[in-house]
Amino acid sequence: MAKDLTRIEPMSNWVTRTCRVAIAAAAIIAVVTGTAQADMVAASCPHSYPPQTLDMTQPINLGVLKRQLLHYACSGTYDGELTKVGGAAQAYLGNRAKEVSKPAIVLDIDETSLSNFPQMIADDFGFIQSGACDLLPKGPCGFHAWLLSTRATAIKPTLELFNAARANNIAVFFITGRFEGAEQRDATIKNLQNAGYAEWSGLMLRPREGTSSVTAYKSGERAKIAGQGYTIILNMGDQHSDLDGGFSERAYKLPNPFYFIP
Ligand SMILES: [Mg+2]
Repeated sequence: MAKDLTRIEPMSNWVTRTCRVAIAAAAIIAVVTGTAQADMVAASCPHSYPPQTLDMTQPINLGVLKRQLLHYACSGTYDGELTKVGGAAQAYLGNRAKEVSKPAIVLDIDETSLSNFPQMIADDFGFIQSGACDLLPKGPCGFHAWLLSTRATAIKPTLELFNAARANNIAVFFITGRFEGAEQRDATIKNLQNAGYAEWSGLMLRPREGTSSVTAYKSGERAKIAGQGYTIILNMGDQHSDLDGGFSERAYKLPNPFYFIP
C-alpha cells in the first residue's frame, strides 16, 4: 500500500494587489506556456474586480468575501496558482513514471479537471442543486442542469498534465463525487471529451447508495486501482477529501476557496 508521501499546496495569496499587475502576470503565463487566454478561468469573468480589505477583527463580511473571491479568480491569481501546482505535478510525473512498471495517476473532476466557474458566479457562490440553468450568464443556475449542459471548461494545467501522462502511456483514472447513473455519467463523459480529455482508463462516479464519506469512497476506489497492479504515482484534487486516505505516492492540492467538501 502506497501512502501519501508529499502534499504540495499552493500559497494562496490574499494579499491585495492591483488588477493591472495580476492581469499582466496572467498574460505572461499565457505567452510562456502557449496557453490561449480563452482557456483560463479568468477569461470567463464578465469584468475585473478590485481587491478587498478583509476585516479580520470580526467574522468576515460575506459580501466582501465574495468580492475578494471574484478578485482572486478574475485577476489571474487563481489561474497562476493552478498553473504552479500543475507544473509541479507534471515535473514529478516525468521523473517518476519511468521508474514504475505500471504507473497511473488519479484526477478529481470538478475544479480539478473541469471548471464550473460560470455556474458559481451565476449563483453568487451559493450552491443550488435543482432548477434550470438557462439564464446564464445571470443566475440562478441549478448545478444538476449545469452538469447536464456539459459546458464546464478544462482546467488548462490539468489538461496538460493529462496529455503528458497519455503521451507517456501512463494510465489516467478520474474519481469524482458526481453521482453514478447514466444521466450524470453520460454528461460527464461528453463534457470531458468536449474539454479535450481523451483515452482515460477509468471513470469512477460516487454510488448513490451507502453512507461512506468522500474520503472513504475515493481512497477505496484508489485501492481498487492499486489492486489491479497499478502504482498511483500522483493524485490531484481541489479538496482534502480528494487526497486523504493514501493509495498514492504524492498528492497535489489545487486551490479552491469557493466551496468545501468535507
Ligand atoms: Mg473537485
